[in-house]
Amino acid sequence: EEDRVMQSEKLTTAGQLAAGIAHEIRNPLTSINGFVKLLRSSESSNELYFEIIESELKRIELIVNELLVLSKPQGVHVSGPIEVLPILEQIITLMKVQAALKNIEIIPHYPDVPISVQGEVNQLKQVFINLLKNAMEAMNQGGTITVDMLRSGHNVQIVVQDEGIGMTPEQIQSLGQPFFTTKDTGTGLGLMITKNIIHNHGGTMNVESVPDHGTTFTIQLPAL
Ligand code: ADP
Ligand code: MG
Repeated sequence: EEDRVMQSEKLTTAGQLAAGIAHEIRNPLTSINGFVKLLRSSESSNELYFEIIESELKRIELIVNELLVLSKPQGVHVSGPIEVLPILEQIITLMKVQAALKNIEIIPHYPDVPISVQGEVNQLKQVFINLLKNAMEAMNQGGTITVDMLRSGHNVQIVVQDEGIGMTPEQIQSLGQPFFTTKDTGTGLGLMITKNIIHNHGGTMNVESVPDHGTTFTIQLPAL
């Protein structure tokens, strides 16, 4: 019985998501269609039309790329015990290069004992990438992002704290809803995917934010 309930909930979520995706992809497609028609009917080729078409195609590509993460097998059950620190370290090393270009310093604090969780490496990577990417995108003036990893009771806790633009309570309410974005080139899919992955790993995500001061994301995952 419980299984049936869960299945019908999944369908509803998938259906809602599909409707959102259809809508988000239809807008750039309509625009591309229009500009291709214009190009066909115009004598001289118009550079601006090509630019618009390119940027709309880019938008579709962004959306589809983020969705590919979701369509990969959600195999937390086929996954194994994995150590969190090497994964986090790898992502921070990767992101530090981009951060430096924006005058952002990432300062990590790591535990001195290994902590493992039951999970899937690529999905956890995705979580860390999404949180750090958002933190960086919130800090156009540069600044510091601190990342703390520690054991907290039966959990491993990862805290990402930025000094960025922060969020209003209304924005916090909308976090993780598909296509909620305040960015010109955002997809609004990153946190939906992040929440989904954390949920699949039996974990939780909390957000605290002060407009113009910064945001703190706290993730807890059951440790082994
Ligand atoms: P995207 O980054 O494509 O906009 P996300 O799902 O990753 O989509 O984030 C949704 C929205 O949540 C962002 O557009 C932004 O408004 C807000 N947000 C997320 N993380 C932060 C952060 N660290 N600081 C400020 N706002 C954030
Ligand atoms: Mg994002």
